[in-house]
Order: sequence, then structure tokens, then C-alpha cells
Amino acid sequence: MSNDINDFAIATLGSHTALQILKGAKEEGIKAIAICTKETRKPYDSFGVADEIIEIDSFENFFEIEKILMEKNAIVIPHGSFVSYLGPQKIKDNLKAMHYGSKGILIWESDRSMERVWLQDAGLNLPRIYQTPEEIDGPVIIKFHGAKGGFGYFIANSTQEFYERIKKFKDPDDYVIQEYIVGVPMYVHYFQSALTGELEIMSFDKRYESNADSIGRIAAKDQLDAGIQTSYTITGNIPIVVRESMLPMFFKIGEDVVAASKKLEGAPKGLYGPFCLEGIIDPNLNFRVFEISARIVAGTNPYTNGSPYTWLKYNEPMSTGRRVAREIKTAIQSGRLQDILG
Ligand code: ATP
Repeated sequence: MSNDINDFAIATLGSHTALQILKGAKEEGIKAIAICTKETRKPYDSFGVADEIIEIDSFENFFEIEKILMEKNAIVIPHGSFVSYLGPQKIKDNLKAMHYGSKGILIWESDRSMERVWLQDAGLNLPRIYQTPEEIDGPVIIKFHGAKGGFGYFIANSTQEFYERIKKFKDPDDYVIQEYIVGVPMYVHYFQSALTGELEIMSFDKRYESNADSIGRIAAKDQLDAGIQTSYTITGNIPIVVRESMLPMFFKIGEDVVAASKKLEGAPKGLYGPFCLEGIIDPNLNFRVFEISARIVAGTNPYTNGSPYTWLKYNEPMSTGRRVAREIKTAIQSGRLQDILG
């Protein structure tokens, strides 16, 4: 295989984190290809991040243009929308184009029960799961499977309240009852290099969710009078710099998750590339993790020009998208491309 980056391209769907992925590719001197629909191409044209835009009718039809990507030696970067439109199983079974990152890990992260086994094995502090509503002995959050953006989640404080609130849902079998952690949300963005074995902290964010982040603007009594229910639909991301003394803990749990991933069935190389641990920090500074995303997350979007942490390490603008492109460039130039493809 060629050692010349001019023989390759980086491609992704025009959505989610594509702006920084494409810009990062260009900054590293690699051709950037955006796959867009007519309706979604505007930002990729306007911000000038792509060398080429391939139009498709809908993202679900990705496989129709896969051959074109393969002819261009394009390396596909999976992001949240990519995984959601194609589905992890199809990516694993059908994707023939070069794919950055482990496909097997995408299967583990997209199944709530499987990811729990992994995170527990890594020794992380997870919220308790209640097997039956009768066990509820404190605040819980009820999460429905496949509820995009936390829509329809609700909080209950007792068994009675649970049954009262679940009534209005049509398919109430498909849920999990999780301990509700009172604290502040924190999303930790990592990059694990498959080439050097080093784990890097890229940045942190919290989400800006509707209407969870506006409910505090209304008095509690008015919320009750108006029958307002909390929802967690994501609308954007807000950057955070964490208390510095917490950094050793964040490095440790990131490394523990990577170490535990090496034992996961169907993912021989384990977890590498960008990933994110999502949790709540309680007042005792315990980080209670409720989810992992094993690919680039939208929370890295505020940092197209790098974060305070990447500035410390790189002394040049380094978005997570650019970090991915740099890894790919290094791999191509050192003849190690196979080590980062999954
Ligand atoms: P994603 O798109 O990341 O899969 P989702 O639909 O699975 O999102 P979650 O990320 O699980 O939703 O949760 C939505 C929101 O609910 C989060 O912003 C978080 O702040 C809150 N939340 C989730 N779990 C808990 C918990 N155990 N305790 C307190 N808050 C929680």
C-alpha cells in the first residue's frame, strides 16, 4: 500500500462532526470528501471545508456511493449520525470501504446492556440499575430504548410515582430504571492512539438540552401549574474546563476503559480513536458514568480551533477531527494503515 497521503482521502457524512473532520483532513493535507444530501450540503459549501461533495438522495442510501469512495481510497470516519443512519451491524457486516476505528466496538457501545458489562469490568462507578419498579427507593430516571436525545425520559421518586407516570407510554416494556444522580453533567472527550498506545484528553463539554436547561427559568409552582415535563433533547454543546485536580481521575478511568476493551469479544484491537465518557459529577466529586460513545462526539464541536488541553499538548490548533486526520497521516506514512482500520 502507498505511503503517500495524496493517494488517500478522508470521507464522512455531512452531519454531526463533519465540519471539523473535513477541516482537520485538509489541515493535515489529506483530501476531504463530504457526502451530503441536496438539503444538507449548504454548511459544507459555505464553510469551505470539503474538497469534494458527493450528493446522495438520503443518508440511508450510503452504500450506493460506496464504490466511488473505494475508488478514491477514501477512509470513512464514523460519527454519531453515520452510526445512527447505517446501524452498527450493517457497518460491521456490509461496509467494504476503509473504516477508521473498530467496528466491533461500535456494536458494544450501541447496546446498553453490553456497554454496562464493559464499563463495569473497567471498574467505573455506574448508576445503579433497578430490576423492578418495586425496588425504587430514591430518585430514578426511566430511559426508553432508542429514545433519541432522551425524549420521553422521566423521573420518579417511588414505586407509586413510577406506575403513575408510566401509564401514558404505549410500549412500557422497553425501558431501564436507573438511579438518578444529582450533580452536574460532564462529557469527557478522549483520543486513544493505536499507533503510540497513548491516551489523550482532548476536551470536555456539557450539553444544552431542551427543556431541561430552561426549566430553572420558571418557578417550581409555575412548572407544576403548566404541567411541564423535563425532556433532554440536545440542541448544542457548551465547553467546560474542569477542576484541575480531577484530571488524574479522568486519565485513569479513560485508561481503564481502554484496557477493558481489549478483552471484548469481536473487537480484537479494542477501543482506539476518539471516544467519550458521559456522566454526572456528584457533590462528593464522584464521576458516575451513564454512557460511553466509542467514536467522535458532537461535544468536541466547540473546539474546531483546539481546546485548552490540546493547546497545552500540541501548541497548534488541534480539533479532534484534525487529531484523527493526523493519526491517519502518520499511519499512512509509516506503513501502518492496517493498524488503525477496523
Ligand atoms: P445519547 O444521544 O447520548 O444516546 P440518550 O438519549 O441515550 O443520549 P442519555 O445521554 O442517556 O440520553 O441521557 C439524556 C440526559 O439525561 C443526559 O443529558 C443526562 O444529563 C441525563 N441523565 C442520564 N442518565 C442520568 C442519571 N443516571 N442521572 C442523572 N441524569 C441522567
